[in-house]
Amino acid sequence: MDAVKFLLPEDRIPKAWYNIAPRLPKPLWPVLHPGTLQPIGPADLEPLFPMALIAQEVSTDPWVEIPEPVRDVYRQWRPAPLYRARRLEMALDTPARIYYKYEGVSPAGSHKPTTAVPQAFYNKEAGVKRLCTETGAGQWGSSLAMASRFFGLECKVFMVRVSYDQKPYRRALMETFGATVSASPSPETASGRAILAASPDSNGSLGIAISEAVEIAAGDPHTKYALGSVLNHVLLHQTVIGLECFEQMEMAGDEPDVLVGCTGGGSNFAGIAFPYLGRALEGGPKPRVVAVEPAACPSLTKGRFAYDFGDTSHLTPLVKMHTLGSTYVPPGLHAGGLRYHGMAPLVSHILDLGLIEARAVQQLDAFAAGVRFAQAEGIVPAPEANHAVAGAIDEALRCKEEGVSRAILFNLCGHGHFDMQSYINYAAGKLRNYDYPSEEVAAALAGLPPVAA
Ligand SMILES: *Cc1c(COP(=O)(O)O)cnc(C)c1O
Repeated sequence: MDAVKFLLPEDRIPKAWYNIAPRLPKPLWPVLHPGTLQPIGPADLEPLFPMALIAQEVSTDPWVEIPEPVRDVYRQWRPAPLYRARRLEMALDTPARIYYKYEGVSPAGSHKPTTAVPQAFYNKEAGVKRLCTETGAGQWGSSLAMASRFFGLECKVFMVRVSYDQKPYRRALMETFGATVSASPSPETASGRAILAASPDSNGSLGIAISEAVEIAAGDPHTKYALGSVLNHVLLHQTVIGLECFEQMEMAGDEPDVLVGCTGGGSNFAGIAFPYLGRALEGGPKPRVVAVEPAACPSLTKGRFAYDFGDTSHLTPLVKMHTLGSTYVPPGLHAGGLRYHGMAPLVSHILDLGLIEARAVQQLDAFAAGVRFAQAEGIVPAPEANHAVAGAIDEALRCKEEGVSRAILFNLCGHGHFDMQSYINYAAGKLRNYDYPSEEVAAALAGLPPVAA
């Protein structure tokens, strides 16, 4: 039997991040000021981010050098392993060759430290004292808490209320790294107080928690804001995933015909896909690239490509993205994560250009795929990652139907060790499928800001 694991030595950690922006056939849509609706400049973002990250946000350099202190931290778990899913292939009785990149080997258990570390580094370089952020299930919060501690920054996290109550282990992890965690909506901000006044029992949402974190950062010169997905610089940092895959697929003597990733804000998907998409734009092999999202929060497949706010209280600039409307909150019964109302502008733009495909899967199908994967490969995927697993299994079964062997590469973006309650609920038959109703999409989209484009 061929090798199943492809490991690169430490010195193969990429030396630069891969910037897809200058390689696209059409430039990205500009970011607009929420008041004037005019394009913003770098100075408008300065209260929130250090200049080095703002420069990356608008960079047109094809490569951005990774600072040595960041590569030093990456060394703890990067390059991440690539596996061939031999036992899964046998279980599916498919002629497909299935590969997965495993990002769950990071200390926080997902791809998120790969951007948390450079974000903490550049803030420290800029003399910032504290980082403030939001977190849903706690993956991002724990990643930023760890990175902040490594670089001697304080870290404050607004955690979506329902997760704060239901996921005490991730909260404990953040606190172990030294972060301060508040349930959102909180009484600490005007945004939080406004929500609490209207609905004292609010479960919170990512959009609300973002408003709180942005408000704190904007009001304190020593505090900056950090976001774990969506923004161009976050997607940029994640491209080490795909760059490592280039070399590992070469070790495997194979080349992906299909790439699959799950999409919440789009960062792990971009991480694996952008280097391949860029190479295809430059005349290289052209794999199909499939983004998989939950049917309960279907921004790419049911959202509108329009200018919208990134948060609920409308403090952020306007970006053009696939959105379900900034007031959208997925139903409480949705256990699969990926709950953000919008999508990264870069991923949205690339879908609009027809360079990728998107599909939505129901949560029962996602968990069934995750259990099948765990039983074959021994890794319990994060609920988010189950969407990518479901997408990859579908592609493999299609190979079987068509009697062809294709190479499928997907991003296993994290493990599910902190999310076992959702597996317990799945096994107990407590999860339900949910299709986001078209009327509700229309209602939420009716509140989009009035921008012509
Ligand atoms: C945060 C997270 C996601 C969703 O974010 P993206 O930016 O879409 O990658 C997906 N999977 C895991 C494991 C996460 O922690």
